[in-house]
Amino acid sequence: MRTLNLGIVAHVDAGKTTLTERLLFAAGVIDEIGRVDDGSTQTDTLTLERQRGITIKSAVVSFVIDDVTVNLIDTPGHPDFIAEVERVLGVLDGAVLIVSAVEGVQSQTRLLMRALQRLRVPTLIFVNKIDRVGAQYERSLRSIAERLTPAIIPLGSTSGLGTRSPGFAPYGAVDADFTSGLVDLLADHDDTFLAAYVNDEATVSYRRLRGELAAQTGQALVHPVFFGSAITGAGVDELISGITELLPAAEGDVDSPVSGVVFKVERAPAGEKIAYVRMFSGTVRVRDLLRFDRDEEGKVTGVSVFERGSAVQRASVAAGQIGKLRGLGEVRIGTEIGEQRTTQERHYFAPPTLETVVVPSRSADKGALHVALTQLAEQDPLINLRQDDIRQELHVSLYGEVQKEVIGATLANDYDIDVEFRETTAICVERPIGVGAAVELLPKARSPTTPFLATIGLRVEPAALDSGVQFGLDVQVGSIPTHVFKTVEAFHEAMERTVIETLRQGIYGWEVTDCSVTMIDCDYQAPPRRWPGTTASDFRLLTPLALMGALKQAGTVVCEPIHRFHLEIPSDMFGVTVSALARLRAVPQTQKMQGSSYLLEGEVPATRVHELQQQLPALTRGEGLVECEFDSYRAVRGKIPTRPRTDYNPLNRKEYLLHVMRRV
Ligand code: GDP
Repeated sequence: MRTLNLGIVAHVDAGKTTLTERLLFAAGVIDEIGRVDDGSTQTDTLTLERQRGITIKSAVVSFVIDDVTVNLIDTPGHPDFIAEVERVLGVLDGAVLIVSAVEGVQSQTRLLMRALQRLRVPTLIFVNKIDRVGAQYERSLRSIAERLTPAIIPLGSTSGLGTRSPGFAPYGAVDADFTSGLVDLLADHDDTFLAAYVNDEATVSYRRLRGELAAQTGQALVHPVFFGSAITGAGVDELISGITELLPAAEGDVDSPVSGVVFKVERAPAGEKIAYVRMFSGTVRVRDLLRFDRDEEGKVTGVSVFERGSAVQRASVAAGQIGKLRGLGEVRIGTEIGEQRTTQERHYFAPPTLETVVVPSRSADKGALHVALTQLAEQDPLINLRQDDIRQELHVSLYGEVQKEVIGATLANDYDIDVEFRETTAICVERPIGVGAAVELLPKARSPTTPFLATIGLRVEPAALDSGVQFGLDVQVGSIPTHVFKTVEAFHEAMERTVIETLRQGIYGWEVTDCSVTMIDCDYQAPPRRWPGTTASDFRLLTPLALMGALKQAGTVVCEPIHRFHLEIPSDMFGVTVSALARLRAVPQTQKMQGSSYLLEGEVPATRVHELQQQLPALTRGEGLVECEFDSYRAVRGKIPTRPRTDYNPLNRKEYLLHVMRRV
């Protein structure tokens, strides 16, 4: 039995939930078709999703078509949740992208298609809602070719568009226009196929053409297009045939070393963690000891595998399959299990660029709020928590304003905690601008002003863009305290951890990045000359003083997150839009006419994205479309934003020593 891990992706309201229900019904998993509008569907498990009618979290449902087990992985469809979408897309063998036959390609459809192409996920396109008035065949295809990809081929014709009983009839070998269109498309992407065809047109059979179509679809080079209606069921059988014929099943050797990725974490009612793992190779059995995240380990206490509808308890889960694993206490979403895959196959997600402070309406809920948010953060990769111990505040990072609403409603419904959010602010970063060095010297004796028995010298330098923080040792091996750290590697690792932790807050309070730190001086006191001599905490607590000294000397620049915007507006709205952009500090960089529309591209600060999205409909009679995505961090001009520190401020030696000594 082959396995196909399939995702259905779409702009909100294009019909993903309805189509999912249709597929489950056709496959016999459910006896009755739920209606989104009554909130009775299988995949929308969260109450909030039901209320809003959107699907936020991924869930898995499986069914069998012919000899293929299809694991249908639900993906969120809201622009605020693009990162979670990408995380799920990375585990797919294939996808169905839904486009509405009435609305055509929408902004979210483009973002999704771009992500699918980046990850090279084989994708079929389903043009839905052909029963609705205004549905159009040619215009839909044009919109897809212009705005998604020109590498498409419709696999059938439609009838009764805009009526209650529309139809989709697949093309076959006898449809000459279809076969010649198919040959042209396939020849564009494969020279051997082209040569074979040119040499002997007559011998290229229709079967060979379909085989080549499947091969090129499997490489995400071309995208077959189906038409239908999730409501009436038109075109759904043809889509199902297309899924098994044209999308490639999961590959992977069940006997190779284990490699898999966690794409969802949930908690059982008793609180136990359950990890959803997509296996790429190898086999995981109950009682296996699994390694993950470099130095974590966990024993698998239970395995269930998705089969015919839901997860069934099994002794093992193997390459290609999706399993629920119990017993791995420390896993998070994105955790890679077993062998790390090569970086090429890993996927990168834009960082959250906004944050806000969450405050409980009843101050007695403070503790409960912390517990609740910690649990949510574990289950949802989009929720990052930052605790400010000094001010007793909780910060959550955000991808967009809608997330506030989702988090607020989840806390109220699932945890009975009412919260308020402070104003959303941008999460900036700091980059070093020069080279700086500082040394803290080993004192003769511990004293209130020199409480740490160690010498630490550090040099800070700017590093390449997007390289994060690197740490290296440039000291004699003999100067490393091996009575505390058993090996040079252990010392390196401990120092690196402290350096990275310290750089979470730079001179202005923002995380320092693109920074290279080198240890240039090191010394210690070992027993028996002094008892008990230098300890690990001497190094841990002294590092922030040396590091911030070096960083101050290097100087840093605060950079704010900038998004790229793609704007499509009616051409007569150009003037008003451009002045609105200026008010939002958005800078258009390219512009071109397309039919009666203007396409504008440029940059906008992350903090203004929401206003841009909100203002656009009013500015453009509701006809404007905007897409924004994180681009880069850019030096802030003018007043430098600072973030209140949540540590003991190693920039101020006196204050730092006072707090650290009080704690020790
Ligand atoms: P999702 O947000 O992509 O999951 O979309 P839903 O499945 O929730 O559908 C959004 C709305 O479109 C609902 O009101 C559906 O009833 C409706 N809808 C979905 N598919 C069709 C279709 O094929 N034809 C028509 N007329 N309406 C549809």
